[in-house]
Amino acid sequence: MTKTVLIASIMHETNTFSRQPTGLEEYRRRYDHRGDAVPKAFRGTATEMGAFIAAADQHGWTLRHPIAAAATPAGKVTKAAWDELSGALLAEVDDKVEGILLALHGAMVTESTDDAEGELLARIRQKIGPDVPIAITLDLHANVSDRMAEHANIIIAYRTYPHVDQFERGIQAAELVQRAMAGEIRPRTVVARRPTLDGLDHGRTTTPGPMTEMLERADRCEKEPGILVVSVHAGFGWADIRDAGPSVTVTGDGERPQFRAIAEELMDEVWRTRRQSSVTFYSVDEAIEVAESPTARASLSSSPTPPTTPAAAAMAMRPICFPR
Ligand SMILES: [Zn+2]
Repeated sequence: MTKTVLIASIMHETNTFSRQPTGLEEYRRRYDHRGDAVPKAFRGTATEMGAFIAAADQHGWTLRHPIAAAATPAGKVTKAAWDELSGALLAEVDDKVEGILLALHGAMVTESTDDAEGELLARIRQKIGPDVPIAITLDLHANVSDRMAEHANIIIAYRTYPHVDQFERGIQAAELVQRAMAGEIRPRTVVARRPTLDGLDHGRTTTPGPMTEMLERADRCEKEPGILVVSVHAGFGWADIRDAGPSVTVTGDGERPQFRAIAEELMDEVWRTRRQSSVTFYSVDEAIEVAESPTARASLSSSPTPPTTPAAAAMAMRPICFPR
């Protein structure tokens, strides 16, 4: 029997210190696809949504794809934009839906809620009841709340930074939802955090350090019986919210104390290594001095702001390039 699966994506990495609000116009500027425009935009792409669509083709699912929208990182998402975006998704959630796959960022804050993903998942859960499996994929820089872990059966974060494994994580999520819909597994997720905004060397995976070591440990834990996914989240500390910072989620088959024990053990290590950083932070004057040296090839930006996301710069300096 063909399964009805809802796939959707609403993404934002919110810097709550930015004064630049993120409205619908900012979503449209990056992308805001609705209905049939969603598979048109994502089929055959190496994205989470591309993976969900590929899995649907393989398993013969009937898909609902109400929305795929993302805006460039900046300040809080306006209440109007959030109501409209989440409303478009929720309108397609009913008792015919047998599985849900969401590609989220995990660090979205709106004018009306500090935990946008948690609220979205709670509202979906309210509509579909406890038995329909929900899997979410997250950016590695997600702030994972208890509410997210309570309402998403499966949480899967990227394992690369720069992020290049979106397709793999999407397929992983889709396969677990398929197994859950078939009654093979009953996934549940727990999350562990510590009172730190920073850690895991900001999630850097290109050099040896806390993040790569933790991912190796996560890989080993995933080989243990009953463990389905162990995700290591570096967090997004530039958010003035309760749950900002690193976390570990463990998705297991059923509910066992062992899942929480693994999450807590890994977070003990995140806490222990929280001050390890491979990034050198300069003061503004020092940074300008470095950039002006004759041999420098430099791009200046504030640390919470990747140079590729200038929209967040309202809170700090604008990226300045020094051509040499
Ligand atoms: Zn990220």
